[in-house]
This record gives sequence, structure tokens and C-alpha cells, in this order.
Amino acid sequence: MLILCNWKLNGKKNILKKFFVELNNLCIKFKIKSNISISPPIIYLSKLYEILKDIKSKIILTSQNVDVHIQGAFTGETSVYMLKEFNVKYVIVGHSERRIHHFESDEIVSSKFDIVKKNGLIPILCIGEHFQESFDKSKIFIKNQIDSIFIKIGKKAFRNSIIAYEPVWAIGSGISADPNYVNDIHFLIKSYICKKDNFFKNNNIVVQYGGSISKNNVYNFISKKYIDGILIGGASLEIKTLFPIIKIIEKFSK
Ligand code: PEP
Repeated sequence: MLILCNWKLNGKKNILKKFFVELNNLCIKFKIKSNISISPPIIYLSKLYEILKDIKSKIILTSQNVDVHIQGAFTGETSVYMLKEFNVKYVIVGHSERRIHHFESDEIVSSKFDIVKKNGLIPILCIGEHFQESFDKSKIFIKNQIDSIFIKIGKKAFRNSIIAYEPVWAIGSGISADPNYVNDIHFLIKSYICKKDNFFKNNNIVVQYGGSISKNNVYNFISKKYIDGILIGGASLEIKTLFPIIKIIEKFSK
């Protein structure tokens, strides 16, 4: 199972080594088989690349963002080429915080998704509604977000990619969504994509859940048939909140 950790705009240069060495040692001690990926602020990727190389760790690096351009006069941006230099495997695109605070439209998100795929990295597309109304309304909203990717890239768009379903109101609020509801939405996402691209058999596109995951609720999610993994924000910032979640996932992994 894949465990994605999004640090957002948190962290400090002088805690990186201690955090990663400790996490790596715990993973070895408890023979953790899940794939763990950390997504720090981009400025820390190069230091983490060196640390992970030194300690021969299997922890994977994810980027929180990427630019739609490869290089040129785009001040303040980071290219997918640069992410590749630091062994980044996954790139988060369309996180609701970028859609809201940085005004990223479906068009920008699909361009980012496209550039990540074209350059051999794996996009993690975040989708999710910002309201708590009805299943039917959420269904339409989510299908539209998926369609914007199909429109830009075509019917093979979701091959070698990951989707993170994150109802916006559940992110950082301490109130997670109902696991049965999430399971139904994941089924909807999987069957919708499978119907468009028959490359996917038995709904085997990976869909993670994110939104106020903690050690107290993680089992309720990972025990559901269509929830393939999780995306953890706040609880991934400290080993004492992250590692208990990893242990529960490891114990009950499908
Ligand atoms: C997130 O950053 O995508 C997230 C799910 O955060 P949190 O776990 O804090 O809700």
C-alpha cells in the first residue's frame, strides 16, 4: 500500500536528517513493506535526496508542485527536469490548496498532469468537492474534474497515474469523511475511468483517500474495498503521529 505524506509549507532544514533517519530506522525495525513517500517543501528535496542516498533508504520523494514549463523565463517555478535530478517519483497536481490559494484552474492542473506524465514521473491528481451536500452533486463535480484531464490528454490519460480523493472540507479540519461514502466515491472514480479506458481491468486504478487521517480513523478507511491507500497531511509532520498510522496500515494492508 502507498502512504503519501504531504508536509505542505512546514518543516525546517535542521530537522530533516533526524526525521528521515528515525523514520527509516523504524521502517527497518518493524519490517514495513508499504511504500512511504514524503512530499516536503520543494526547497528541501535536494537535501533529502542526499540524506536518503546516504542512509540507503527506500523512502520515496514526492513533489508538492511543478511548473507547466520545462525551462525559461518563469521566475519562481520548478521544472519537472529538476525534480527528476533529485529522484522524485511522484508529483502532486491539483491539490485543493493550490486550486484555492494559487487559483489553479482545471486547465492548469491538466497541463501539469500532462507535463509530469510526458517526462516519466507519476502524477497524483487531487480531486474532491468543497461542499457537503449530496452524493449526486459530488458525483458530477468529481466527474468534471476527471473529464478535464481526459479532454487535455485523451483516453489513456490515467495510465501510470494516481488519484487522491480529498473532500476539501475534510482537509486539515480534523473531521474526516464517512468511510462508506468515500468507498462509494472511489468506486465511482474507478468505474468512470475504467469505462473510458479498457486498459484498466477490475477497477485497478489506484485511488488514495486524504482528509484528516489519524491513527484513530485510518483503519476505517484502509479496510474498505475501493480505498487503495491514503494521503496524510498534518499527521505526517511528526514521527509520533505518523508512525502509528504506518503500523496500522502495515498490519491491515490488503
Ligand atoms: C492534505 O494535505 O492533502 C491532507 C489530507 O491534509 P490533512 O491530513 O491534514 O487533512
